[in-house]
Amino acid sequence: MSKEFYYDIVVVGAGPAGSSAAYQASQNGVKVALLEKEESIAETVRTSGVTWIKNIKEFGIPDDCFNPIKNYSFCSPNNEVTISDSIAQAAVLDVRKTYRWLAQQAKEKGTDIFIKTIVKDVIKNKKGDIIGVVAANSKEELLFFGKIIIDASGFGSVVCKSMGLVTQWERFGAGAEYEVKAENVDPETWWLMVGQKYSPAGYAWIFPVSKDIVRIGVGVGKPESSIDPTERLKDLIESKQGPISRLGKITPIEFHYGLIPNDGLSRKTVYNNLIMVGDSAGQANPLVLEGIRYAIKFGRIAGNVAAAALKSGKTDENALLPYEEHWRQEIESKIKSAGRVQDRWIGLTDEQWDKELDIIKELRPDEFLDFIKADFGLSNMLKLATHHPKLAVRQLFGLVKGLGK
Ligand SMILES: Cc1cc2nc3c(=O)[nH]c(=O)nc-3n(C[C@H](O)[C@H](O)[C@H](O)COP(=O)(O)OP(=O)(O)OC[C@H]3O[C@@H](n4cnc5c(N)ncnc54)[C@H](O)[C@@H]3O)c2cc1C
Repeated sequence: MSKEFYYDIVVVGAGPAGSSAAYQASQNGVKVALLEKEESIAETVRTSGVTWIKNIKEFGIPDDCFNPIKNYSFCSPNNEVTISDSIAQAAVLDVRKTYRWLAQQAKEKGTDIFIKTIVKDVIKNKKGDIIGVVAANSKEELLFFGKIIIDASGFGSVVCKSMGLVTQWERFGAGAEYEVKAENVDPETWWLMVGQKYSPAGYAWIFPVSKDIVRIGVGVGKPESSIDPTERLKDLIESKQGPISRLGKITPIEFHYGLIPNDGLSRKTVYNNLIMVGDSAGQANPLVLEGIRYAIKFGRIAGNVAAAALKSGKTDENALLPYEEHWRQEIESKIKSAGRVQDRWIGLTDEQWDKELDIIKELRPDEFLDFIKADFGLSNMLKLATHHPKLAVRQLFGLVKGLGK
């Protein structure tokens, strides 16, 4: 016999998207179950955890969850640039601490969290709409019925796949990373490393977590490259390429591996009784494969819209549509622009990368950050595309807004 549970909302996956959706829905007074397959929240880390202090403050994430960054270094095979800001605007998260804080916030608002609970299938009504999920823990099968189901299961999109609504992402990033103790760490400076030896379709990175710990990683675009990021990462660390050599003695602490969708905003994200959020919705900036702030922000919107739909007594696609309209309005055109820059970057040879860094050198910290964050507002991009003192920069921003090559 399966055990049955009845909730207003069942959220699948307690990553940043799921915990944020659960938090916001519970805050609105509805009954929420949050299901997570792992032994504990964020048991496995699948991300580098870079985000922005402005967003961290907006979400209320505590100060002891991140390391601030104010110098942004880039290197290509024969060039190097560091853009230094007067204040820190970027941050590297303590991923476990942050994700656990997000889940705790949901719990404090009343969400029931079920860990070690893996979702395996969906339950549909006669019309074919979702009304629950089939899950299991180590002892038994569990049936969770909900008026709205939120698929926040990340890259795998388990709920929507079981519904037959989506198939595996075709274009995605694969990333491997070691968190290491290192002898010489500059905790305020990150490194992005570009060019064939680092990653043929992507980049490598050094992100400092504290004064003696950094994350060294390699991201590879699929299907553009067949390189295994883990092998490439081991080679780079062993042969101490580029800025890795400056870290001195390196002692690995933990290995991270993950996949992130890069198919643009191709998925419809609301159906009758169903919402997708975070990586399951493909909400990521393709330029630097960044998705945490979108997962939290749109998780909260999903929670709000779901709770409002429940209160109105309607949970069909139309009732949930404000969620999709909201997030598309906020990021669709920016993500398209980021995609254009990504297309340019993926095709660059080593020599072209050396020249691209000369263009990046001309950017002020704010311009650089807007660029890397895909914060491409139409008016500021147009201004840069027409008035920046350097022609190459004008051309780069022209490309961002689709104004030319
Ligand atoms: C290598 C790499 C580096 C990255 N670096 C950055 C970065 O620096 N900054 C940034 O902003 N973004 C980064 N990202 C992207 C970021 O990690 C994601 O966008 C973000 O984690 C999405 O959050 P999510 O909640 O949608 O999914 P996830 O964080 O993947 O959470 C999904 C949760 O669902 C659970 N789950 C899955 N299947 C089931 C199931 N069947 N039953 C129950 N639970 C299930 C999982 O265990 C997990 O806890 C990176 C991604 C990769 C791969």
